[in-house]
Amino acid sequence: MAPEKLQWRELFSEVVTTGLCTGCAACVVACPHDVLEYDDAAGRYQPFHVEADGGASDCTHGQRGCTLCTRACPRFRTWEPEIDVHRVGRERRADEVAGVGDIVLARATDAEVAASGQDGGFVSALLIHALEHGLVDAALVSGREGDGTSWRAVPAVVRSRAEVLATSGSRYTYSANLLAYPDAVAEGAERLALVGMGCAASAPGALQVRKAGKIARRLVLSIGLLCSKTFDDAIFPELFEARYGLARADIAKMNIKGVFQVTTTDGARHDIPLAEAQAFTRAGCRLCPDFAAEHADLSAGGIGALDDWTLVVVRTELGRSLLDALVASGAVVTRAADEDPRAVALLTRLARTSRRRWPDFADPHPGRTGAPPR
Ligand SMILES: Cc1cc2nc3c(=O)[nH]c(=O)nc-3n(C[C@H](O)[C@H](O)[C@H](O)COP(=O)(O)OP(=O)(O)OC[C@H]3O[C@@H](n4cnc5c(N)ncnc54)[C@H](O)[C@@H]3O)c2cc1C
Ligand code: SF4
Ligand code: SF4
Repeated sequence: MAPEKLQWRELFSEVVTTGLCTGCAACVVACPHDVLEYDDAAGRYQPFHVEADGGASDCTHGQRGCTLCTRACPRFRTWEPEIDVHRVGRERRADEVAGVGDIVLARATDAEVAASGQDGGFVSALLIHALEHGLVDAALVSGREGDGTSWRAVPAVVRSRAEVLATSGSRYTYSANLLAYPDAVAEGAERLALVGMGCAASAPGALQVRKAGKIARRLVLSIGLLCSKTFDDAIFPELFEARYGLARADIAKMNIKGVFQVTTTDGARHDIPLAEAQAFTRAGCRLCPDFAAEHADLSAGGIGALDDWTLVVVRTELGRSLLDALVASGAVVTRAADEDPRAVALLTRLARTSRRRWPDFADPHPGRTGAPPR
């Protein structure tokens, strides 16, 4: 029997309309016929099929055999074990709740890089190293729209140290960084790094294991960010401003460490209970099982007790060789993870919490790993 041609019709009914879709945009950038577009208005962050060529729920190119969108999707059917095997050569064990990998604490040694980074500036140091050593031509990251004062996160292409530093730090609204892929390619980039939360960090593996052509070959490095959720843009006017009088333009930095830490341009820090932010959780995050960006080459987070250090999970051979090169060149210093046992325990706890979100109607793998019965 000929293999089933899995196309937009299946992606739409099994992922988009069921709430599994994270809005990562892998399907949009993989589509060779340009019939998928991306809706980021009013907190939606979802792909949609244009009215021509099949309408909202079907695709005439799919009817003729195109399967690129389902091959790109890191939430389609048995995505997790497929990508696990591709990335690390085996499925994860039930006790590997945060995915396969070794944990280390890392910090950029360059004062400017460390200062502009969200935690230890590790991700920025890694991007600068990869760009300056020709390992990648460009990276897909998240910048801030316009002069930055709106705090709206937007996908961006960076090619230099200055551009990396201009886009460092974290925004807690969603940024589908893969959407910057066409711009990077139009500028001639052939080898790309992708920075993104778990949803996006799984996309290169999905594309590669399902042999999705050029885009799979171009995304040579996946850098993941630990992530429990992102928030709708409405959090700025409706929570920060309405309840705390914090206008977007006056915010200098945001971080989440047990509370929402909002630092204003006058240097004052305002701690906002996370419970108050829950109502602004982005819909695409509600069923996400991946806290620890488990299919990245290296995943980075800020859960350590030691401020100004990035907790790094080294997951692949490429990730290991990059970390070794960063340490050897002096761009990064590391500490053993057992210097911060609470961070390691917290990683497991937060990963387990995310895994429990995975619904029973979907492929059982992500729900099985590390998640005791609800
Ligand atoms: C939405 C979000 C939620 C997070 N939640 C947690 C968490 O719960 N626990 C935890 O330990 N860590 C979390 N992190 C990771 C943490 O905030 C830092 O990104 C991480 O520790 C790396 O720090 P760094 O100093 O090495 O990064 P930096 O050197 O500052 O580099 C950060 C990189 O992230 C990119 N980026 C910034 N915002 C976004 C965005 N919205 N979408 C995609 N890319 C972006 C930047 O462009 C830059 O390339 C989250 C990050 C984000 C963006
Ligand atoms: S999860 Fe990503 S690839 Fe899958 S349907 Fe949603 S946007 Fe497309
Ligand atoms: S929780 Fe984080 S990793 Fe999961 S879908 Fe939301 S943004 Fe992506």
